[in-house]
Amino acid sequence: MAPIVAQFGATTAAGFPAQMPMADNFDLHLHSSVSDGRLPPGAVVRHARASGVTHLALTDHDTTAGVAEAMTEAVAVGITCIPGIEISATWAGTEVHVVGLGIDIHNSRLQTRLAGQVALRERRAREIGQRLENGRIHDALAGARAMAAEGVVTRTHFARWLVAAGHAPDAARAYKRFLGRGKPGYVPPQWPALEEVVEWIVAAGGVAVLAHPLRYPLSSRRLEGLVAAFAAANGQAIEVVAGRQTPDRTARAAALALKYALQASRGSDFHDPEQAWLVPGQIAPLPGGLSPVWGRLG
Ligand code: MN
Ligand code: MN
Ligand code: MN
Repeated sequence: MAPIVAQFGATTAAGFPAQMPMADNFDLHLHSSVSDGRLPPGAVVRHARASGVTHLALTDHDTTAGVAEAMTEAVAVGITCIPGIEISATWAGTEVHVVGLGIDIHNSRLQTRLAGQVALRERRAREIGQRLENGRIHDALAGARAMAAEGVVTRTHFARWLVAAGHAPDAARAYKRFLGRGKPGYVPPQWPALEEVVEWIVAAGGVAVLAHPLRYPLSSRRLEGLVAAFAAANGQAIEVVAGRQTPDRTARAAALALKYALQASRGSDFHDPEQAWLVPGQIAPLPGGLSPVWGRLG
């Protein structure tokens, strides 16, 4: 099997001394402007490097369009980039996210499936725009497209446009008033089944990681059902540290990892440098006693 992580030696780049000692800091969940992040892929890598990250995965929503640029930039600044993705899926009627790490971005089947995801997003975006139009919020689709620039239009872009156009004071309230379940612009997701998405990732040589398990609207009992289904489908790891979360949540995720023999991942879910409270790599360390997913990626 070919190594799934490109390893790069210390490389000098403008502004970054070659031999600056850096403790290992894995941040395996970051977004760029090819999906709903604010920075282009290369800038995400530089920002992560400047924040102390030594190993990152660019995990844009349903697209690997930023990975090549991120890999090139990682070489230039002397850190390790793992090719990644975050794919939307459905489990028991709930939208869940699966991160793929160490995927072969040239896997043609994976790329075909991702093209299908992009088509689903485009269709959903048009429906959201139509429903908002019916609710007398005009030109939302054009506004969200402008927010997305060349990237895929997501609900995050609708939320940003709703704020920019003065329909909501912030993104949280844009969801609450317009985009969430039961609201005028709500369109139920039609993502493929969790098991299918795991299979695409594994078949592309990647490790499937259940993203931010404590963020789904699920009771403890149903969350455990999700984790069990994910493990049964050959899911291999779970994000034990997902962004900034309470120690209690980290402990709950760690317990699930142990119970279902899943490896543990760590990721900020970084999107936006203006969100000063969420900096790449500056999140809790993995608790002891777990098997880090990077043991498998090295
Ligand atoms: Mn996002
Ligand atoms: Mn997510
Ligand atoms: Mn994410």
